[in-house]
Amino acid sequence: MFCVECGKEIEESFEGLCIECYVRKKKFFDIPESVDVTVCRNCGSYNIGNKWLEGELYELLKNFLRGSIKHKGIKNFRVEIDGDKVVCRGDFHGFEVTEKGVINVKTRYGICETCSRMKGGYFEAVLQVRKGGRNMTDEEIKLSDEVVYRKAGHESYITKRERKHGGIDYYMGDKKMAASAAKILNDMFCGETSVSPSLVGMKDGREVYRNTYLVRIPEYSKGRYVEIDGRVWKVFDMRKRVGVVDIETGEKKYFSRDRMSKVKVIDVEEMEAIVLSSKEKEVQILDPENYRVLVLSKPADMKVREKVKIIKWKERAYVVGD
Ligand SMILES: [Zn+2]
Ligand SMILES: [Zn+2]
Repeated sequence: MFCVECGKEIEESFEGLCIECYVRKKKFFDIPESVDVTVCRNCGSYNIGNKWLEGELYELLKNFLRGSIKHKGIKNFRVEIDGDKVVCRGDFHGFEVTEKGVINVKTRYGICETCSRMKGGYFEAVLQVRKGGRNMTDEEIKLSDEVVYRKAGHESYITKRERKHGGIDYYMGDKKMAASAAKILNDMFCGETSVSPSLVGMKDGREVYRNTYLVRIPEYSKGRYVEIDGRVWKVFDMRKRVGVVDIETGEKKYFSRDRMSKVKVIDVEEMEAIVLSSKEKEVQILDPENYRVLVLSKPADMKVREKVKIIKWKERAYVVGD
């Protein structure tokens, strides 16, 4: 058998040709002359081959060409782009094949699906953070914003943020992101979370639901004081069950979240007071507000020292233990 092109004797024929002649004559790659690209004028993402993509244009084009250029019989197929030149390479039966083309990237401007949903005020989920009827503290608001905005991205945009009933509402483009932000907030604040779906309409014959995630932050938190049965307790544990310690007797108790939700939080500030003298069960201190001498009962486990922390509640002062 001979190659019909160069006349060389061959063992294997490729459409009557030797492999060298075949590789030289054959066109292996169908490099397109042009590619249409739409750029979102809002977020700068690209639509190439009917898909909205984020990233660097040349990388995206390369990926698109690698996925769409036919390369039958070619192994180790590679695409490179240099300016408007496209180079396709690969191996055909151990022979390196290279083909070059010039590609015209036709660019237009438009708006991507996500941006059009966002601009239209569309949202899939509302994440509500609440602290009983109370106002969230500035610190809690800051932490909450940080968590939510760190989670946000292009698809999972936040279309609106509103202060409501002492808490915050976040309107979000993506349910999954809302759920995951709710979980982080829940763990961070030792809260309780509920989800309620609501039917908002139909799309392509299917019911469309919007989820509301409610993260309830407890009013109490670790280090805060609460009133239980007329006595003052300090919260020291915020895991599954809530641990409280009687600040006078040192008695510890654990309560369920449910029980704790009915407990009154005491708004007091700890103050430092100078210790004048200390006995086994009592301690004499100087009231930091009016410099009167107070005799207070001493917490069971308190060591003798120069200063102690006190709180005042209902006309009474309490020494706060360690
Ligand atoms: Zn030949
Ligand atoms: Zn966009």
